[in-house]
Amino acid sequence: MGQRQALARTFGCVRVVYNDALTMRKQAWIVDRSKVPAGALAKSVITDAKKTEARSWLGSVSVDALQSSLRDLDAAYRNFFDSLSGKRAGHRSGLPRFKSRKDNRQSLRFSRNGFRLRSNGKLNLAKIGDVRVKWSRALPADPSSVTIVLDRSGRYHASFVVDVELDHLPELDTEVGIDLGLTTYAVCSDGTVIDNPRFLRKAEKKLKAAQRELSRKAKGSKNRAKARRKVAKAHAKVADTRMDWLHKQTTRLIRENQSVYLEDLNVRGLARTRLAKSVYDAGWSTFRRLLTEKAARYGRHVGVIGRFEPTSQVCSACGVLDGPKPLAVREWTCTACGTLHDRDLNAARNILAAGRADRLNACGGPVRPGVAIPRQAQPVETGTHRNAGRTGRKPCAAGAAGGPVL
Ligand SMILES: [Zn+2]
Repeated sequence: MGQRQALARTFGCVRVVYNDALTMRKQAWIVDRSKVPAGALAKSVITDAKKTEARSWLGSVSVDALQSSLRDLDAAYRNFFDSLSGKRAGHRSGLPRFKSRKDNRQSLRFSRNGFRLRSNGKLNLAKIGDVRVKWSRALPADPSSVTIVLDRSGRYHASFVVDVELDHLPELDTEVGIDLGLTTYAVCSDGTVIDNPRFLRKAEKKLKAAQRELSRKAKGSKNRAKARRKVAKAHAKVADTRMDWLHKQTTRLIRENQSVYLEDLNVRGLARTRLAKSVYDAGWSTFRRLLTEKAARYGRHVGVIGRFEPTSQVCSACGVLDGPKPLAVREWTCTACGTLHDRDLNAARNILAAGRADRLNACGGPVRPGVAIPRQAQPVETGTHRNAGRTGRKPCAAGAAGGPVL
């Protein structure tokens, strides 16, 4: 039997076990609000199920993959409950859903017992065999699990879970504020500009052609399936290029700076506007996630400042609130101190100052309400609006002296 077939069979069995377990848990909940213990669940949907005629084929695939799928279901439930109780931040996780043969993405996982890495670079999967792998990068350490995904463009991916040793870089004293935008991807407070690569926009012609091709094919035909894979492949390519680029940019920012500050953009809100495609193409949430992950790993800091900070209205030189400016205004002169500002660079500098202030406040540093934060090579002014406003909203719990408040 070919590896594709073996994989297809395992995807199927894993899905069935997952769905059977989900049914059992749902029923137990309806009957008496109880949770089926993990051992009983595994016995019922794997061990006992194999002995029945309807599920005898479960025996032909790796039991490790089947057990992993039960652990995944358990994790899905945990995320749901943690999200309900507010223990889990971010997007609300829904109740676990049934998996379908028609899902865009089929996945299965092996724990440490289900796979082995061969010295010739091949990946041995239990009951599937030695699979050829095109490695995107070397594994930094021994992986504890591998997830195999079949995406809708027909490609298989293997992703490994590896416990990385924290790889703290020598401490720096450089900090940077970043203003994210759509015209330019980002403007940094040190003046560096990151151009917007607009991968989706650039690939649009090709994507549209593939889409048109697809719409011409008869429903249910083999050619239609082929065209669909072609569309999916084109989309996957855009996503890959974008991801590569995001990795490069975030690695550089984290390596070069001890602290990186960003504005908390309402990505979901923006995605509902007519800018949706561009916002999606920019991958801001991924940008932020990668920065945060890399900061944790390399011993750096990422600070996110509040969404309502008027970063484009305040003069970064003297701190005066100069009033709102329409998006079309790219440059303006401060009415108080006469500094000529580039809109985005000024915003980036304000983000840096606000991020620093938040950070000092958080560690109970020497920031008192009403005292301006020293900006890079700028005279310090006391009692400017922006600091008074911020400290009013976000009181420093530790107090000005920095001692613990009991
Ligand atoms: Zn000014």
